[in-house]
Amino acid sequence: MKLNKDWHLHNIMPENPTMEQRIAWHLAHAQHCACREIPAKLAEEMKKRNIELPQTAIK
Ligand SMILES: [Zn+2]
Repeated sequence: MKLNKDWHLHNIMPENPTMEQRIAWHLAHAQHCACREIPAKLAEEMKKRNIELPQTAIK
């Protein structure tokens, strides 16, 4: 997995993030970096909200 260090430096997950913040972070993250996948639980939340999962975030 490739880590986009620069992106991470400028996009730090807030402390105690809301579900919206986590979803937004992971959506942006999937477009810029591939160091981790979207957690299954979060992917489920995204499906519930009709948010399309980025293909790069799915194994
Ligand atoms: Zn990353």
